[in-house]
Amino acid sequence: MIYDVSMTIHPEMTVYKDKPEKKPVFSTLSTHATGSSHEGLITMSLHTGTHLDYPLHMIKDGEVSGESIPDGCIGPVKVFEIEGDVIDEAAVKALSIQPNDVVFFKTRNSHREDFDFEFVYVSASGAEALKAIGIIGVGLDALGIERAQADHPTHKILLSNHIFILEGLRLKDVPEGTYELYCLPLKIRGVDALPARVILKSL
Ligand SMILES: [Zn+2]
Repeated sequence: MIYDVSMTIHPEMTVYKDKPEKKPVFSTLSTHATGSSHEGLITMSLHTGTHLDYPLHMIKDGEVSGESIPDGCIGPVKVFEIEGDVIDEAAVKALSIQPNDVVFFKTRNSHREDFDFEFVYVSASGAEALKAIGIIGVGLDALGIERAQADHPTHKILLSNHIFILEGLRLKDVPEGTYELYCLPLKIRGVDALPARVILKSL
């Protein structure tokens, strides 16, 4: 089976905290009525839909995107189903996570299309536990990896330890298990996030 776990980008799509300025704007540079071709234009935050965060997002002078696909974006990924409201140290320790794993958390977030202000997130203690194990990357089915934590410790713990953060996954149809991951961020240099098409393939 192949699962496309990416969000669809369109003008009315769900965006973080429903902020109007985060909605992508679709327009046209030319149409067949005004020119010899049709050419569309999209203006949007790089954190729209399914995307990878880079350190600069939460760390002053942090790293930005380069030209290579981050380690772990193509390779095995473990999808875990989480029951609770927060992914904390206890939740992480209950799972079979090994060093160098890439892990995706499937939560109740995947069953809602609107923005849930109470979305399930990874807490600072959860991030510390993931860092202690030595994972490569983590993905969540929410437009943010954390909420309601002053100073964004989850982002900072993960990003300062070279653990990639993939946000905006849609995992409703994906059973728990191990898959081959194809996370292909757009090849844009020097920015704090990259929209990505993310595919899971059954092994
Ligand atoms: Zn982001």
